[in-house]
Amino acid sequence: MLLNKNDDIELHIDSVSLTGSGVGRYNGLAVFVPATAPGDIIEAHIIKAKKSYAVGKCTKIIKPSPDRTDNDCPAYPGCGGCSFRHMSYGAELKLKSDAVRDAFSRIGGLDVELKPIIGADSPDGYRNKAQYPVGRENGELKIGFYSRRSHRIVDCRACRLAPPEFEKILGTVADWIEKYNISVYNETSRSGAVRHIYLRKAFATGEIMLCLVSAEENLPHTDKLIESLKNEKAIKSVLININPDDTNAVLGEKCIPLLGDGCITDILCGVKVRISPLSFYQVNRGAAELLYREAIKRASSGSPERIADLYCGAGTIGISFAKAHPGISVTGVEIIPDAVKNAAENAELNGVSNAEFICADALTAPLDGFGCVMIDPPRKGMSQGLVERLCRIKPPHIVYVSCEPATLARDAAALISAGYRMADVTPVDMFPGTGAVECVTDFVI
Ligand code: SAH
Repeated sequence: MLLNKNDDIELHIDSVSLTGSGVGRYNGLAVFVPATAPGDIIEAHIIKAKKSYAVGKCTKIIKPSPDRTDNDCPAYPGCGGCSFRHMSYGAELKLKSDAVRDAFSRIGGLDVELKPIIGADSPDGYRNKAQYPVGRENGELKIGFYSRRSHRIVDCRACRLAPPEFEKILGTVADWIEKYNISVYNETSRSGAVRHIYLRKAFATGEIMLCLVSAEENLPHTDKLIESLKNEKAIKSVLININPDDTNAVLGEKCIPLLGDGCITDILCGVKVRISPLSFYQVNRGAAELLYREAIKRASSGSPERIADLYCGAGTIGISFAKAHPGISVTGVEIIPDAVKNAAENAELNGVSNAEFICADALTAPLDGFGCVMIDPPRKGMSQGLVERLCRIKPPHIVYVSCEPATLARDAAALISAGYRMADVTPVDMFPGTGAVECVTDFVI
């Protein structure tokens, strides 16, 4: 019996994907229902019916899964940020760990030894960075997040993943916008000024940066904004970032400091890091430390004389490594010139002299003579060319930090075909609440 749009069915949810969508079978047909938990028995209203699958909306929970919790956020799931606020954190960790195992088996054909996933002490309040789009709907000021796959702003100033201080700062900026009638950007007419409120917090020092992203360079009454923030002692830098372009990119290239020198300073694995609005920095400092420690432990295990840190960003892993191992020299490779400059500055700031940084595509990075090559690529994984070079040159030890299990599994299968042995895999939950999961593993030849 086929399903039709607008049917109401009873459904048992068997599993949940990393996007937070549960799936159950109805006469063999896969039916996806967002915001459900494994083991839920629900009533679903079918909103889309295709030959090979259907999508439903949960209209009633007949019997809740033991993993179900009360959603504590009024913006969920509309804001498109979290995937698992309706499930316990323990169930979320299990689901992520299973997803890693599944990616290795499905994509790499590999049966891996999985270490227990490293979870967060607190799955809330961990984000050190948030970018809130600003707009008006029927004249009303909206500050929050874009709902999934759209540019409609869901008002949300108290995101559970952000530090609680951010809410108060958003309130102060909102009051300033209303009181001085500051113009707000309209994406349709491409007019107006303030597009995003961008906040960053350095958790180790408590310093906060406020950056207003504006389509117009000359925002009026910024002195009044600075004055109303004067009791917020944690705010060390206030800037305007100019983004006049018709683009989905949040930030433009130019920043104008209004207060402070435009940077805040954090400490990661004992390393001081200067953070500007444009520099890449791990969003979850606590989990990044756990991830880096695991990578550094693995990279130093064979006592190499030299290590390479490919896709090094602002150099944080390599500098932490170099500081902990003054006898080992580190060469970082990164494609973005500004990040390479940041990496060199960070090394100097920390008095680290055994680390150097090269601006290059990892594909062309020097690989000869390194006892260990660490890689931390973006979600798409290593380029095929780099995998082929590694398989040809065969550095004795490769440590792989990954933010996407699917591409890690693909690259691991290629390294194993070339003769490498893969060690166990440690998943780290860097982004509680959301569908992302990081992993560290290493390969020896
Ligand atoms: N290891 C860093 C950054 C990881 S993010 C940290 O933990 O902070 C991945 C980095 O790879 C980004 O900085 C990105 O700019 C860089 N990158 C992307 N493609 C690259 C390529 N082909 N060659 C070198 N670096 C690249």
